[in-house]
Amino acid sequence: GERALVNVPEAIETVLALIQHKLGERIGVRRIFSGRAEIQCTPALLNQVVMNILGNAADAMPDGGTITVETRASPDLDEIRISDTGPGIPDALREKVFEPFFTTKPVGSGTGLGLAIAYSVVQAHSGSLTVETAPGGGACFVIGIPRQAARS
Ligand code: ADP
Ligand code: MG
Repeated sequence: GERALVNVPEAIETVLALIQHKLGERIGVRRIFSGRAEIQCTPALLNQVVMNILGNAADAMPDGGTITVETRASPDLDEIRISDTGPGIPDALREKVFEPFFTTKPVGSGTGLGLAIAYSVVQAHSGSLTVETAPGGGACFVIGIPRQAARS
């Protein structure tokens, strides 16, 4: 697909509208959009990456919780941070979650491909996809796209 300069908060709103049915009433969404976050990318691919991560956050909180979507813009790097108030990811699984077919979901409900695909999409944009522990113990996925590399 064609790359374009994508306004990150706008892209996130689009995806949130698409998965609202999956969040329902039980999951609240907090937005922290700071700076002018714009990413040079293939819009459909960015949507797919964000959709996968948001879907996983919803799956991790069957009894409800909060998803926080934060954008940070700096001259050299744009970041999208998506955190949840679920159980988090144990240290031993930190690397594994990005491997194709790794899933802890019941047979038939998870392919284990979502994060592997997200990882390669972000890499194709010269970026990074990592996972941290959110304050409170949930998972926090961080997408980082360098401005220079992405725009050259
Ligand atoms: P799938 O969603 O099909 O299981 P993914 O590649 O999207 O595949 O995720 C792989 C695994 O990573 C999940 O099965 C789960 O164990 C773990 N995971 C991903 N996101 C989260 C999250 N937000 N909280 C806890 N575990 C997560
Ligand atoms: Mg998934």
